[in-house]
Amino acid sequence: MIGGGYVGLVSGTCFAEFGTDVAIVETNPDRLAALREGRIPIYEPGLDRLVEDNVAAGRLTFGDDIAAAIKGVDAVFLAVGTPSRRGDGQADTSYVHAAVKQVARAADGYTLIVTKSTVPVGTGREIARIVRETRPDLDFDIASNPEFLREGNAIQDFMRPDRVIIGIDESRPGGATRAQDILRRLYRPLYLLETPIVFTGLETAELIKYSANSFLAMKITFINEIADLCEKVGANVTDVARSIGLDGRIGKKFLHPSPGFGGSCFPKDTRALTAIGRKAGSPVRLIETTVAVNEARMQAMAERIIAFAGGDVRGMTIGVLGLTFKPETDDMREAASITILGQLDGAGAHIRAFDPAGMETARAVLPPGVTYCGDAVAVAEGADIVVVLTEWNEFRSLSPDKLKKRMKGRRIADLRNIWDPQVMREAGFEYISLGRPEQA
Ligand code: NAD
Repeated sequence: MIGGGYVGLVSGTCFAEFGTDVAIVETNPDRLAALREGRIPIYEPGLDRLVEDNVAAGRLTFGDDIAAAIKGVDAVFLAVGTPSRRGDGQADTSYVHAAVKQVARAADGYTLIVTKSTVPVGTGREIARIVRETRPDLDFDIASNPEFLREGNAIQDFMRPDRVIIGIDESRPGGATRAQDILRRLYRPLYLLETPIVFTGLETAELIKYSANSFLAMKITFINEIADLCEKVGANVTDVARSIGLDGRIGKKFLHPSPGFGGSCFPKDTRALTAIGRKAGSPVRLIETTVAVNEARMQAMAERIIAFAGGDVRGMTIGVLGLTFKPETDDMREAASITILGQLDGAGAHIRAFDPAGMETARAVLPPGVTYCGDAVAVAEGADIVVVLTEWNEFRSLSPDKLKKRMKGRRIADLRNIWDPQVMREAGFEYISLGRPEQA
């Protein structure tokens, strides 16, 4: 497994749990040192125990030497990052290309190279070309096996996925069969659970991943716009979402209004899909709009907080609950908090923030002036306004009275709708949330 991040570490550990011997190769010295010392460098519930068990069982090892790791293996998985390229939004495949070259150079016999990273359509064939160029003598096949796990629920998602997608090179029938056999064996425990395993061509598998993420991002963006509309016309987005979600064709998930989607996948994958569409001469206009609406939304949320504060936050103290892009992760990549707190800080507010898992990662990306608090209630200390940015469970049960005692002001902007407007109003707060009619 090349790459020991959110995907590589979880997938590698889960494959080991299936009974396979797994060597994870990680080049980031801090991450590797942590793993070797038995510490988990990311926050992912349940992962520590699973890693410990599989290391103890001798099925899971960590290192930075690709040649040693891939000696005699049946398959090599690429799980390195594919961030957005600055400027054009295309996925940056340079880590994938670099890893492929390293694998090709080090391979000591037949090698099946499987891409788990999310990569643009055509990358599989590009990988094959790079391998042929680097090692003309090497016997190899390629496959695409995009990963659908969600941070925060990653182990469950990997062990009980809705489906497994395996893209193979259909232009090489012999190789395709060989690749298929190896991956079938690897995913055997899931066959027993009757998980749908979908075999497709390479390009199809690559596009499936972008289509799935873009559809979900579009669904989030849809309900966000409906929430805005609810505010204008006096409707309630909670009831709208629940009622449309009861239609099985729509489904009730991903219909929660928010300050905008963020994270390591949706922003970059929607941008990448629009770039793929443009390049292919078949623009995906719904997703182009989704990207634009979402980016504008985060800015609009900061402006909304400023307006709620009376038009000027200079010198005000703003308490912030939640920083990560969603609960149960420490991942800060493209979190709405980055845009929103950047604007509030720029407008002269003093920010006091707390996040149950993301404070370490947040420090690197948030304005240096942010004060990090020891617990949720502490953000309210002297605050003119308290803002909810991530719906961690522990925030739902915060006592309004405790917040009130510590706050200087009485304003709460709940951008995740975690509290009941009536309860908050009765507790003496001036309270706004998203798309609910009771608000001022
Ligand atoms: P990540 O940045 O957490 O992990 C990538 C790791 O690869 C890093 O630790 C990096 O040091 C390491 N690495 C880079 N080049 C290497 C090399 N040559 N040899 C060894 N290690 C190397 O990224 P991630 O979140 O795990 O995402 C990886 C891929 O999976 C991306 O394409 C992403 O789009 C996709 N994906 C992510 C998620 C998610 O929830 N994070 C879900 C599905 C798919």
